[in-house]
Amino acid sequence: MPETIASEGAAPPAGAGAITHYHAHIYYDPATTRERAARLRERIAARFPQARVGRWHDEPVGPHPQSMYQIAFPSEMLAAFVPWLMLNRDDLTVLLHPETGNAYLDHTKHAAWFGAVLALRLDVFKKHQ
Ligand code: ZN
Repeated sequence: MPETIASEGAAPPAGAGAITHYHAHIYYDPATTRERAARLRERIAARFPQARVGRWHDEPVGPHPQSMYQIAFPSEMLAAFVPWLMLNRDDLTVLLHPETGNAYLDHTKHAAWFGAVLALRLDVFKKHQ
Protein backbone atom coordinates (compact mmCIF):
# COMPACT_ATOMS: atom_id res chain seq x y z
CA MET A 1 0.00 0.00 0.00
CA PRO A 2 1.13 3.61 -0.41
CA GLU A 3 2.70 3.86 3.06
CA THR A 4 5.40 1.35 2.00
CA ILE A 5 6.65 3.81 -0.62
CA ALA A 6 8.63 6.86 0.53
CA SER A 7 8.24 10.00 -1.56
CA GLU A 8 11.92 10.95 -1.28
CA GLY A 9 15.20 9.07 -1.06
CA ALA A 10 15.60 5.31 -0.97
CA ALA A 11 12.24 3.61 -0.80
CA PRO A 12 12.03 0.10 0.57
CA PRO A 13 11.36 -2.51 -2.11
CA ALA A 14 7.69 -2.40 -2.97
CA GLY A 15 5.83 -5.49 -4.09
CA ALA A 16 3.84 -5.41 -7.29
CA GLY A 17 0.82 -5.88 -5.03
CA ALA A 18 1.05 -2.12 -4.38
CA ILE A 19 -0.15 -1.62 -7.96
CA THR A 20 -3.91 -1.52 -8.28
CA HIS A 21 -4.01 -0.76 -12.00
CA TYR A 22 -2.08 1.01 -14.75
CA HIS A 23 -2.44 3.94 -17.07
CA ALA A 24 -1.13 4.21 -20.59
CA HIS A 25 -1.19 7.82 -21.82
CA ILE A 26 -1.18 8.07 -25.59
CA TYR A 27 0.26 11.41 -26.79
CA TYR A 28 -0.53 12.97 -30.14
CA ASP A 29 -0.37 16.25 -31.99
CA PRO A 30 -3.87 17.55 -32.90
CA ALA A 31 -2.46 18.96 -36.16
CA THR A 32 -0.54 15.92 -37.39
CA THR A 33 -1.08 12.65 -35.51
CA ARG A 34 -4.64 12.78 -34.19
CA GLU A 35 -5.84 10.41 -36.91
CA ARG A 36 -3.24 7.81 -35.97
CA ALA A 37 -4.15 8.25 -32.32
CA ALA A 38 -7.82 7.69 -33.19
CA ARG A 39 -7.01 4.50 -35.08
CA LEU A 40 -4.96 3.18 -32.16
CA ARG A 41 -7.75 4.11 -29.76
CA GLU A 42 -10.31 2.14 -31.76
CA ARG A 43 -8.05 -0.87 -31.98
CA ILE A 44 -7.42 -0.85 -28.22
CA ALA A 45 -11.13 -0.57 -27.45
CA ALA A 46 -11.97 -3.44 -29.81
CA ARG A 47 -9.19 -5.75 -28.64
CA PHE A 48 -9.12 -5.01 -24.91
CA PRO A 49 -12.67 -4.62 -23.61
CA GLN A 50 -11.36 -4.52 -20.00
CA ALA A 51 -9.56 -1.25 -20.74
CA ARG A 52 -11.24 2.04 -19.90
CA VAL A 53 -10.59 4.49 -22.71
CA GLY A 54 -10.51 8.06 -21.43
CA ARG A 55 -11.65 11.13 -23.31
CA TRP A 56 -9.58 13.19 -25.71
CA HIS A 57 -7.54 16.02 -24.22
CA ASP A 58 -6.52 18.21 -27.14
CA GLU A 59 -5.38 20.78 -24.58
CA PRO A 60 -2.59 19.68 -22.22
CA VAL A 61 -4.02 18.69 -18.83
CA GLY A 62 -2.46 17.97 -15.41
CA PRO A 63 1.19 16.87 -15.65
CA HIS A 64 0.88 16.10 -19.36
CA PRO A 65 2.72 18.57 -21.62
CA GLN A 66 1.02 17.44 -24.85
CA SER A 67 -2.40 16.39 -26.08
CA MET A 68 -3.26 12.85 -25.00
CA TYR A 69 -5.89 10.38 -23.96
CA GLN A 70 -5.61 7.83 -21.18
CA ILE A 71 -6.13 4.09 -21.16
CA ALA A 72 -6.77 2.73 -17.65
CA PHE A 73 -6.40 -1.02 -17.30
CA PRO A 74 -6.20 -3.69 -14.58
CA SER A 75 -2.94 -5.48 -13.68
CA GLU A 76 -4.24 -8.72 -15.20
CA MET A 77 -4.20 -7.06 -18.62
CA LEU A 78 -0.56 -5.95 -18.47
CA ALA A 79 1.08 -9.05 -19.97
CA ALA A 80 -1.16 -9.00 -23.02
CA PHE A 81 -1.53 -5.27 -23.52
CA VAL A 82 2.04 -3.96 -23.16
CA PRO A 83 3.64 -6.17 -25.84
CA TRP A 84 0.73 -5.41 -28.14
CA LEU A 85 1.15 -1.69 -27.51
CA MET A 86 4.92 -1.89 -28.16
CA LEU A 87 4.23 -3.33 -31.58
CA ASN A 88 1.20 -1.21 -32.46
CA ARG A 89 1.74 2.27 -31.02
CA ASP A 90 2.31 3.56 -34.55
CA ASP A 91 5.22 5.87 -33.55
CA LEU A 92 3.08 7.67 -30.98
CA THR A 93 4.72 8.46 -27.65
CA VAL A 94 3.29 6.50 -24.72
CA LEU A 95 3.70 6.93 -20.97
CA LEU A 96 3.01 3.75 -19.01
CA HIS A 97 2.71 4.14 -15.25
CA PRO A 98 1.35 2.14 -12.33
CA GLU A 99 -1.16 3.47 -9.82
CA THR A 100 0.20 2.82 -6.33
CA GLY A 101 -1.36 5.79 -4.55
CA ASN A 102 1.73 8.00 -4.92
CA ALA A 103 1.06 10.02 -8.07
CA TYR A 104 4.43 11.78 -8.01
CA LEU A 105 6.47 8.56 -7.94
CA ASP A 106 4.13 6.81 -10.33
CA HIS A 107 4.80 9.52 -12.95
CA THR A 108 8.60 9.67 -12.30
CA LYS A 109 10.56 6.73 -10.89
CA HIS A 110 7.86 4.17 -11.60
CA ALA A 111 7.12 5.27 -15.16
CA ALA A 112 8.11 3.71 -18.48
CA TRP A 113 8.10 5.54 -21.81
CA PHE A 114 7.76 4.26 -25.35
CA GLY A 115 9.00 6.45 -28.18
CA ALA A 116 10.16 9.65 -26.51
CA VAL A 117 10.48 10.81 -22.93
CA LEU A 118 8.46 13.97 -22.35
CA ALA A 119 9.13 16.42 -19.55
CA LEU A 120 6.05 16.22 -17.35
CA ARG A 121 4.80 19.22 -15.37
CA LEU A 122 5.61 17.72 -12.00
CA ASP A 123 4.76 20.85 -10.01
CA VAL A 124 1.15 19.69 -10.38
CA PHE A 125 1.91 16.95 -7.84
CA LYS A 126 4.12 18.96 -5.53
CA LYS A 127 1.29 21.34 -4.78
CA HIS A 128 -0.59 18.49 -3.17
CA GLN A 129 2.25 17.08 -1.07
ZN1 ZN B 1 -2.10 8.49 -15.53
